[in-house]
Formats: sequence, structure tokens, C-alpha cells
Amino acid sequence: ALSLAACAGGGGRGGAGGGDSTDAAGANKGALVGVAMPTKTSERWIKDGDAVKASLEKLGYKVDLEYGDDKIPQQVQQISNMLTKGAKVLIIASIDGTALSDQLDQAAAAGVKVIAYDRLINGNKNVDYYTTFDNEEVGVQQATSLLTGLGILDKDGKDTGEKGPFNVELFAGSPDDNNATFFYNGAMKTLKPYMDKKIINVKSGQTGFTQIATLRWDPATAQKRMQNLIASTYSDGSKVDGVLSPYDGLSIGIISALTSSGYKTDALPIITGQDAEQASVKSIIAGQQYSTIYKDTRLLGDEAVKMADDLLNGREPEVNDTTSYNNKVKVVPTFLFPPTVVTKDNYKEVLVDSGYYTEADLK
Ligand code: BGC
Repeated sequence: ALSLAACAGGGGRGGAGGGDSTDAAGANKGALVGVAMPTKTSERWIKDGDAVKASLEKLGYKVDLEYGDDKIPQQVQQISNMLTKGAKVLIIASIDGTALSDQLDQAAAAGVKVIAYDRLINGNKNVDYYTTFDNEEVGVQQATSLLTGLGILDKDGKDTGEKGPFNVELFAGSPDDNNATFFYNGAMKTLKPYMDKKIINVKSGQTGFTQIATLRWDPATAQKRMQNLIASTYSDGSKVDGVLSPYDGLSIGIISALTSSGYKTDALPIITGQDAEQASVKSIIAGQQYSTIYKDTRLLGDEAVKMADDLLNGREPEVNDTTSYNNKVKVVPTFLFPPTVVTKDNYKEVLVDSGYYTEADLK
């Protein structure tokens, strides 16, 4: 079994003799947990941070919740400060998944356990656990919903016989976020057969990950790239029929680029997304964005807190995946959740009935 307990004892804290997990649990009562989130520019991370903090506090822990404003040195500093303040567990949603090695080494030396939150931390052995949604499946779902929206697949995922060809453009997430390649790979393996059969035509020819990536998931960058694509590739009067977008914030930028180049809001391409952010769900209801991927941040937050609480009480956290997430040094034991596609057809059932949003939130 894991022994954060032993580490904490060995570090001389909590001194009350003992050494078995019961004593250590006592020693970790009310311990400080550091929670590092990447940015406040996207709603989801605010919800994540709030949920994790509230559940930790409910269990009596102290919480240092920090946002990195998408700046790597800022997040590095925040995590260093958490260690200085004596945090016993770190829950980290990284900005750059490879930039935290020094902090992780320091954490390990102090017996502090590290949970990678949503985004895997790469290149260091001191990542103890990981919890996330099935990221490749997110990409599969994004691409599948694009195919459904275009009428190539029916609602049961069967080929309709539709031959297109459809002009589609592809966007990917931030290259320093491990998830972005998982989304991309899931989407590309789903789209490839249709690209091979020329039912889907990526008219710009830009299909490589680095060609279509969007640093820091920045909506303005996606907007600019969409504008450039329209000017360079669609000035012959042809139109864009579909856009694979990996995140709602990018979808908003992409829609702005399209409408400012003359696309009517009721005649937009099929556009995907991710995170079921409020503005984008409204856009889906209004018939502008086609789909998003819902990932219940409450589940993820609860899972991370459960892992932290287990570690602080000398218990081994439960995982359900021990193969998918190799961080280049080791396979990190993971608890995975399934993502869900949301369109106009099921948003009520998925988002409102679950209490994630109220009807009023979406007005
Ligand atoms: C998350 C997505 C999110 C993206 C941008 C990814 O790591 O998994 O849910 O859309 O970051 O914030």
C-alpha cells in the first residue's frame, strides 16, 4: 500500500510516535492541499477549482487554490509556494505538462503526493495519480458529431450513404497540453476513412497536428487562423461545410471569423466544441454551434478529492485505467470518466436534468 503516512512521519511532522496509518491519518487531519489550475479565461476551470476546493474543505482540509493565468512561470511559482507552505498533496492541472519537473522532484523529496488533474504531467516519475475524462474518446465524439451534423452518419452512427464532398477545416488544441494530441488522434482516426474516400475534403490541406494546433487554446488565435483560411482557401466562392473545433472557446472565435466574413448565423458550417460552456450551449440552442462535449467537472473534482483524501489517510486510491496514460517515464494510474456529446437534441436531458445548468442559465 502507499505510504504517504510514512513519508509524512519520516519528515518529522505530526510527530505523535505511531507510524501506522491511523496515526498518520490523524497527523494529516486538516492538512493543506495545493490546487493549481491553469486559467480563469475558461469557465470550466473556475468550476473545477471551486468544486475541488469546496469538497476538500468539507472534509476539513485547508486549501490553497491558485490560477496560473496561462503563464508557465506563474504556475511554477505557485506550486513552489504551495510546497513552502507545507502542502501535503498537490492537485495540478498543468499549463505546460513538461514544465513542472523541479517542483515534482521537490514534492517527492518532501513526501508530498501529486495528482495530475485532467491534464497529464509528462516526463517525471513523481506523478502519483491521474484523473481525467477519456481524452481519445472526446476526439472520437467530436469527429463523430461532425459527421452526424454533416449527414454522413445517422443518429445511430451508421453511414447514410451521403457522398459529399464536404469542405471541412480542422483545429487542434495547445501543443503543450497532453490532452490535445489525444483529442486530435481520436478525431483523426474517426475522420480518416471519410477523408480517404473524399467524402470529407480538408480544402486547405492543413491536417498535421502542428499545422492546426492553437497555442494555449487561445480563441483569438483560432479566430485569426479561420479568417486566414477563409481568405486563402475559400476566396473562390466555395464554402466551409464543417469545422472540427476541440474546445468551445475556439468555436466562438471560429464563429466570429465566419460571421465577419459574411456567413449568416443561420447558415454556419457544422462546428464542434468541448466543455459545454454556457455561451456555447446557448449558441447550440440558437442553432449556431452544432455540438459540444460535456465533461461533468463535479465528478472529476470529487474524484481528485477522493484520491487526495485516500492518500492522506494511507489508503490506495482506486483507479480504472493502468495502460492509457504513459507520461514518457511511467504509466500513471488513472481514474477515467466517460465524456458525453451534447447537441440541441439532448442538452436538456444531459445538462439541465443533471443540474449542471438550470434552464434559466441557458436563456
Ligand atoms: C481540457 C479541455 C479544455 C481545454 C482548454 C483541456 O486540457 O481537457 O476540457 O477544453 O483543456 O481549456
